[in-house]
This record gives sequence, structure tokens and C-alpha cells, in this order.
Amino acid sequence: MKPFLSFLMILLLLGSGPLLAENSRRDPILFQYSAINALLAGVYEGDMSMADLARHGDTGLGTINGIDGEMLVVDGKFYSIKADGRAYVLAPTEKTPFAVMAFLRADLQDSLAQLPSIAALTRVLDQHIATLGDGNAFQVIRIDGDFSRLALRSEPKQSPPYRPLAVVMKEQQVNFELKAVRGTLIGFRIPDYMTGLNVPGYHFHFITEDRSQGGHVLNLELVRAELKLGTLSQFEMALPQNHLFKRSSLGSDREKQLQAVEQQ
Ligand code: ZN
Repeated sequence: MKPFLSFLMILLLLGSGPLLAENSRRDPILFQYSAINALLAGVYEGDMSMADLARHGDTGLGTINGIDGEMLVVDGKFYSIKADGRAYVLAPTEKTPFAVMAFLRADLQDSLAQLPSIAALTRVLDQHIATLGDGNAFQVIRIDGDFSRLALRSEPKQSPPYRPLAVVMKEQQVNFELKAVRGTLIGFRIPDYMTGLNVPGYHFHFITEDRSQGGHVLNLELVRAELKLGTLSQFEMALPQNHLFKRSSLGSDREKQLQAVEQQ
């Protein structure tokens, strides 16, 4: 190759490397690890680390191996809200059996006020998503603001042999309440046709502004907050490679179990 051409190639490579990385970071992809039916079946161990997850987003939720708390990712920082209601910073080496991640790029921003319940909040979100015409896509949601009340839950770490999630939650779910707090809700909206893979509808985790407390959100009263909502039109899924996952029966209809687990 002529010297000039190889010089040009190097320039192109130098120029395109960081640019490509930047573009792919911004692709509107919903990334998830494992399937919700696997978590419901008791597949509480995965091989994907927080460092691995960080390549797929700066915003997310899920859980940690052994279902050791409710995981939340905000601004690229990983937390687990454990059964004591406190948020713990997760090491990059910690692993997840189920997680959902995205890079948050707001297609829509809005100021929210005086929403007396999670149902009232999701009605507002439904309207926004309908206006965008994105009801069949996925949404990543971040809401920062003041809340007069939050009903939250978490669960204690499990050890093998693992029992189905609905059984664990019925016996060991820990509920707590926060009053008059500032903080951040991280959530996803998943269309109904994703049943079995993810949680259809809305799924929110909360963390206080000082990042010290939180949990999986059962209900809330929102005073005022700022909403950021991004639509994700691509879906990427990675499966655990362990025997627990490979041997689990994932085909049965676990919708009723899911409702029991997510909304009580
Ligand atoms: Zn949750």
C-alpha cells in the first residue's frame, strides 16, 4: 500500500473508532439478561457481572445473585436495596440472574405534580406513550422529585436449592414505607406481548436522593417531579449459561405468579 493511502487509513481508523463507539452507545436498545419466567422458576444465579451490564446502559433495574435485594442503576452507578431497606453500592464483580438496561436518552420530558398513586402516574405515562405512538415499543423511564409516600419492598438473599419466586415472596417479602423524601424512580414499560420474557406493564425501583434507601415500588404519592422517558425500538437478550437456567422449565404460564410477585 502506498504511504499516503496507509496514512489515510490510519486517519480514518482514528476518526471512526471513537465515533462508532459513541453512536452504538446511543442506539435505543432494551438489553435484558435472562427471562422473567426463569426468575419466577427460581433461577437466582447468573454469570453476568455489573461490569458486563454497564456496557449495555447507564440506567436499569433487576436483582443480584441469590436475589440479594432489588437492583437499581442510575447515572451508571449500581445499587442493591437489600431486605433492610438500605441501598448498597455494588462491586463491578457482583453478578445478576435478571437485569434490564438501557442508555437513557429522553425522547420526552415533562413536569409531573400531585399524582396520588402509581396508577395515576402510569395513566400519565400511558398518555405520553400514546401521543408518541410508541405503545408497541419499550420505554425507559426516570423520574426525579419529591414524594410524600412510597410503599416499597425487598427480599432477603436466598441459598440453594432455590424455591420459586412467588413462594419466597409470600413468605419472606419485606415491606417498608418512606415518607416525605426526594429521590429517583427508575422504570421500564414493557408491552404485553413480552409476557414470559419480561414484566409486562410498568416496573419501578426507587432510591433516595442521598442514595441510601429505596426498593421495588408497590405504590407512591408524587408531589412534584421531572420525568424523562425514552423509547427503545431494539431488543437484545442474553441467557445465563449455567445448569440452573438450562434445566429449568420456562414454558409454563407464570402470569398469575408474576402478578402476585410484582404487585403485592
Ligand atoms: Zn423489582
